[in-house]
Amino acid sequence: MATKLYWENDANPKALDGKRIVVLGYGSQGRAHALNLRDSGCDVGLALRRDGKTWAQAEEDGWKPEEPGPAVKAADVVCMLVPDMQQATLHKEVVAPNLKKGGMVLFAHGLNIHFGQIRPSADLDITMIAPKGPGQLVRRTYVEGKGVPCLLAVQQDATGKAFERALAYAHAIGGTRAGVIETTFLEETETDLFGEQAVLCGGATELIAAGWETLVAAGYKPEVAYFECLHELKLIVDLIYEGGFARMHQFVSETAKYGDLTRGPRIVDAHVRETMKKILEEIRSGEFAREWVLENQANRPVYSKLLERDLNHPIEKVGKELRSRMSWLQPASARRSEATARGEAATPADSAAAKGRSYVGPRRSLGEGGKPTSEAAKAGGAGELRRGKPASEKKVKA
Ligand code: NAD
Ligand code: MG
Repeated sequence: MATKLYWENDANPKALDGKRIVVLGYGSQGRAHALNLRDSGCDVGLALRRDGKTWAQAEEDGWKPEEPGPAVKAADVVCMLVPDMQQATLHKEVVAPNLKKGGMVLFAHGLNIHFGQIRPSADLDITMIAPKGPGQLVRRTYVEGKGVPCLLAVQQDATGKAFERALAYAHAIGGTRAGVIETTFLEETETDLFGEQAVLCGGATELIAAGWETLVAAGYKPEVAYFECLHELKLIVDLIYEGGFARMHQFVSETAKYGDLTRGPRIVDAHVRETMKKILEEIRSGEFAREWVLENQANRPVYSKLLERDLNHPIEKVGKELRSRMSWLQPASARRSEATARGEAATPADSAAAKGRSYVGPRRSLGEGGKPTSEAAKAGGAGELRRGKPASEKKVKA
């Protein structure tokens, strides 16, 4: 394998000794990082808005959240885990004025740095640990002794220790158990946006919906169509996840395989591939990021309408009804499994899992956060979006 991966033995946990880590935001990633860091013995605190939704939940989990300003003043490492569209303002108002020289700002996604929405001072380390999975899994796998693979990137290395510290951070949240790959903010941002748009969130849900609609329109029962196009997808994806296409082929019938090989390419055909290229180009040119920043500044009219339509899709009604009968899908079981893996009873710390922070990926994460502010615009609005480096300059460390 050409790309180097970093594993548990490659990390030096001592690189974070004596370093105060402050996690900003207690959502999908924030909660997972904070709890994992705490369980790994790091000196970690939470900074939240007192009127925010997650303050009470954090207290239930045994934290003493602080107001962002004072917390950042005392920090050596600040983890930027508020929604992407809140980060520029938070950086300008809270992080930049308070974080000490030689401090580190750590991101879980590169959008704001890559597209110039945040231009940090040169005396800071700017790094990224981007788990390739939702926060809920970052927590659950850690508790089970496993991990979620992470991407690591160093944008600025003011101290000469940025890489070592970022790797120690990935280690502390469980990432080195599953493998850490060094990348750049450019590569993480562009591939992450592409993945969630074309394959993971956008592509997968549209494929499910189109399949379901086709069957229902042809007169089949909505429940049968649900099992066929949605429920069973997880079983197939699990096989692919465990052992690639080969493992799926081992488990499905000869008939299914023949249908897959002959019909699959007709579904994802040249037209779909062409559209994927266009979508990638919109990401690389900054067009997507500009659109999303402007959408936020306008209070998200398009986003809200589309989200509502998505959540009101008839498959959601059928699914809700069917899933309510599947006891193992109920949030309490998630709480139990975390507690069981830890060998203890379910605690308040698991209440977030119990509240069902189910992954619908970035769609969820984009759904929270406050109103767009004029500060965001001042902090470098969409007009200032700069283009990423061309692909020819893209370097992946071997
Ligand atoms: P989220 O929406 O789940 O949670 C955001 C948290 O920030 C909430 O606790 C919210 O109350 C708080 N918050 C919002 N505005 C704030 C402000 N101005 N000041 C302080 N706190 C504020 O967010 P998320 O999905 O965990 O995303 C965080 C980062 O992680 C993003 O950069 C995202 O791209 C990245 N990421 C997310 C996932 C994921 O699974 N959701 C996966 C990989 C990377
Ligand atoms: Mg992602």
